[in-house]
Amino acid sequence: AAPVHVVGGGLAGSEAAWQIAQAGVPVVLHEMRRDLPDPSSSSEAVGQVKIRTDAHQTDGLAEMVCSNSFRSDDWQFNAVGLLHAEMRRLDSLILSAADQHQVPAGGALAVDRDGFSAEVTRRIEAHPLITIVREEVAGLPPADWDNVVVATGPLTSPALADAILELSGEGQLSFFDAIAPIIHVESIDMDIAWRQSRYDKEGPGGDAAAYINCPMDKAQYEAFIDALLEGPKAEFKDWEHVPYFDGCLPIEVMAERGRETLRHGPMKPVGLTNPRDPTVKAYAIVQLRQDNALGTLWNMVGFQTKLKHGAQAEVFRMIPGLQNAQFARLGGLHRNTFINSPRLLDRSLRMKAAPRLRFAGQMTGVEGYVESAATGLLAGRFAAAERLGRALAAPPPTTALGALVDHVTGGHLEGGPEGKASFQPMNINYGLLPPLEAPKVDENGVKIPLKERGRAKKRLMSLRALADLDAWVSGAA
Ligand code: FAD
Repeated sequence: AAPVHVVGGGLAGSEAAWQIAQAGVPVVLHEMRRDLPDPSSSSEAVGQVKIRTDAHQTDGLAEMVCSNSFRSDDWQFNAVGLLHAEMRRLDSLILSAADQHQVPAGGALAVDRDGFSAEVTRRIEAHPLITIVREEVAGLPPADWDNVVVATGPLTSPALADAILELSGEGQLSFFDAIAPIIHVESIDMDIAWRQSRYDKEGPGGDAAAYINCPMDKAQYEAFIDALLEGPKAEFKDWEHVPYFDGCLPIEVMAERGRETLRHGPMKPVGLTNPRDPTVKAYAIVQLRQDNALGTLWNMVGFQTKLKHGAQAEVFRMIPGLQNAQFARLGGLHRNTFINSPRLLDRSLRMKAAPRLRFAGQMTGVEGYVESAATGLLAGRFAAAERLGRALAAPPPTTALGALVDHVTGGHLEGGPEGKASFQPMNINYGLLPPLEAPKVDENGVKIPLKERGRAKKRLMSLRALADLDAWVSGAA
């Protein structure tokens, strides 16, 4: 068979190449990072030109650019742990290399990053069906590559990013990404917060109760501003030179401009009345907006932040109603290249306007090493199936893998893929899977205490996911 071309040998591209080759289809993997002899020096030993991205430091495949953690490995109670379990069942190279190079990290799967990257590189190099070409694909892949996986990551080289931008017809592709935290709805205290749209008329479709409102009095507001100003902020790295727009300033930057700025911006209290005591006017109000069609996740409106992750939970739990908030995603700020996947991709991750191009990794709008590798795994399987003339549907949305595909391709969004105005990268979490009723009794009929039912529900969702994944695998085999 003619080879499938994979562009980018990061977390997603390495996994995609592996899956394609394991299906018996030849692969050419194109990775731009490499060391070249310096033409200006007379001896090769004297100098080398190192071609890198702004964040990568080596030429190894699957280099982890920041932390060395694949996060929780607990498949029963943690969605990313569940994703690990699903990927292990599907012969994931990334998970197998991670398991082999694990370092102690409690319940997390953390690795020796150099050993891990060397292992992935070794296994890819040793595979008889994979050829590695060290070159930049500096524009759209040549027209005679009929089956391509583009997995060039958040730091895609500008020449390729520009070509994809033009092909997509979208206004922008790479930007300084300021994201606001997202909260699991069941952790919001609705004895304090209430549902209401500003002036009872804002919100999608004019819904009078589209938002969740968290009220603050003056003392609470002042304490919150102090905490924001004092909290540790993430430092800007050299490669983060992209400006941010005034329309999405981080809240700490707004607070630095004046203590009242937030009260006149995202925290303005006008047009909202606390039904518990309409005579008391809140001094400031934090609003949350529904973030997914299932209604399980809510976004803190206008709360993009570059507070360090550790500080965010503490500071945001000062907000009345959010004192027990569980975060599905924390806020952050970094350069990020991703495409508007709900509009551009089909369910097998192919670009609708150019079906020979399939996308994987952070470019599709998933967030994180594991999620990137997971979409690489699926893109690889889809590409191989296509080459072999076999039909392969995406895994069901009750699995973590299927839920990720649904998230990026917009399959479950209200109003279909066109219905979502702004699409933001996200980690896997249980809120992306169809909900289940929390069980009241365990498998032996013993009553489960109220405070443990949330955990019991996660376990049931994980068991459902693995059973459905097994059924998908046997159906697909
Ligand atoms: P990458 O792993 O970046 O792989 C893309 C590959 O494509 C690279 O090897 C690159 O050299 C190559 N490439 C780019 N353009 C071309 C081209 N035109 N031709 C050929 N090759 C090309 N996630 C976490 O889970 N934890 C973290 O701590 C974390 N920290 C991050 C820190 C930074 C600075 C950034 C930018 C992202 C971070 N992420 C983190 C997010 C994300 O999970 C990682 O970026 C992840 O590596 C994405 O996987 P990927 O395969 O999509 O991209």
